Amino acid sequence: MKHIPLVNLKRQYKGIKKEIDDAIKRVLNETSFIMGDDVVRFEKEFAEYLGVNHCVGVSSGTDALHLALLSLGVGKGDEVITTPHTFIATSEAITMCQATPVFVDIDPNSYNIDPAKIEARISKKTKAILPVHIYGQPAEMDPILKIAKRHNLFVLEDCAQAHGAEYKGKKVGTFGEVSIFSFYPGKNLGCYGDGGAVVTDNPAIAEKVRLLMNHGRTEKYIHQILGYGNRLDTIQAAVLRVKLRKLNKWNVRRQAIANQYNNYLAKLPLKLPAQPKNTKPVYHIYSVLLKNRDRIQDKLKSAGIESGIHYPLPLHLQPAFSYLGYNKGSFPVAEKVSRETLSLPIFPEMRTDEINYICRLISKFMA
Ligand SMILES: *Cc1c(COP(=O)(O)O)cnc(C)c1O
Repeated sequence: MKHIPLVNLKRQYKGIKKEIDDAIKRVLNETSFIMGDDVVRFEKEFAEYLGVNHCVGVSSGTDALHLALLSLGVGKGDEVITTPHTFIATSEAITMCQATPVFVDIDPNSYNIDPAKIEARISKKTKAILPVHIYGQPAEMDPILKIAKRHNLFVLEDCAQAHGAEYKGKKVGTFGEVSIFSFYPGKNLGCYGDGGAVVTDNPAIAEKVRLLMNHGRTEKYIHQILGYGNRLDTIQAAVLRVKLRKLNKWNVRRQAIANQYNNYLAKLPLKLPAQPKNTKPVYHIYSVLLKNRDRIQDKLKSAGIESGIHYPLPLHLQPAFSYLGYNKGSFPVAEKVSRETLSLPIFPEMRTDEINYICRLISKFMA
């Protein structure tokens, strides 16, 4: 029986082993484990890749969100508008600043925050809008930016699943006042541990994040402000530099895999990912909506095919957020997607025969 995992980092490592091993060895020989040369170079290369002026490497996507919010001045009593259909870190970071996440339902096609529903949730306490480019599918930035401008709010983009994705010909991460990325190993650009980045064109924000991530220090043992130990370490930066050179090729392969799935699955009674004309998604996750999701997932599992559910419980219904007072029915679109979404295996090293095999099985199970 074939076994096909959701992601296959072993196959990826085999393909780039020499470059990765050499990069890690170089750091070992230099023993510059913290704030080494590779961190400086990676920050420059990633900023260039995106087309932004500043990139600050940090210890994770979650910490990137936290520091980005702090750099915007988000604090106690403030509200930040975001989506309930995302990984918990997006909203956790808001609570880490002692601010309150305010959820808005999602668009039934893109599964991203629905711009038409944002304005009704803006209050005097609202400080920022935090859209997530979920699954690598760009959020509708034009209307979001317009609303933010009208109400004098900051926009912070969560690009943790969308390295290289484009909206109207521009990379995501270049629209908001500040944006964040995660380099968790399974992300489209992932390191070999935890890592993240904050990117911006605003030099004051970059400066603030740089201070916050390294104990507020401007020189050794001189601390201008109180900060955190949230640095990106050199070995991770060295790995990221190797993998950044492959990112475009890998994203093109993900798009081809998604097309192959789309073509095959179009005949079946399920909902395919949205394909808006003005965006280039990077398919961190390939998700379809199915009425009998759990049954199909079980059958795939018995046939050796791993699949995922991103995510089974929307954030407004999480026990940890019960204090916010939302109920079942608060956000019907997000709730429906959480009941029906199924993530199929997708990784750049996946073979055509594997994709066809999965599609054949799904057709059989749905017949
Ligand atoms: C992965 C992820 C994060 C958190 O990143 P970490 O590096 O795991 O801390 C935040 N937001 C979204 C949408 C993510 O997918």
